[in-house]
Amino acid sequence: MTMLWGSLYGSGISMTHAAAGEARSAASDAQFNARQIAARLDRALLTCQAMWELMHDKLGITEEELVAKITEIDMRDGVMDGRSRPQATTCPQCNRAVAARFDKCMYCGTPVKKDMFA
Ligand SMILES: [Zn+2]
Repeated sequence: MTMLWGSLYGSGISMTHAAAGEARSAASDAQFNARQIAARLDRALLTCQAMWELMHDKLGITEEELVAKITEIDMRDGVMDGRSRPQATTCPQCNRAVAARFDKCMYCGTPVKKDMFA
């Protein structure tokens, strides 16, 4: 009985160590992905700031106009939530809805204008 218990106990510890190793690996992957996303976000914000400063300096666009445009885009889906959700388009051939991320109708293959921000 003691040997059986010892064997079961030992295999349980091995399984626990394996699970802990998998959890560490998954956590490490998640940290790597989070760092990559943060770096991409930093670049996107830098680009956005550069574009805004160029538009303000060269075109005279005011901050109030920028905020009004942000609000208008945010409200296109009817919800003021700080996000932009690309709207589906309608296929000119079969009149079915086509998700904004596609450049062709998934039903009939007709090319549609893809939303560049989808
Ligand atoms: Zn179609």
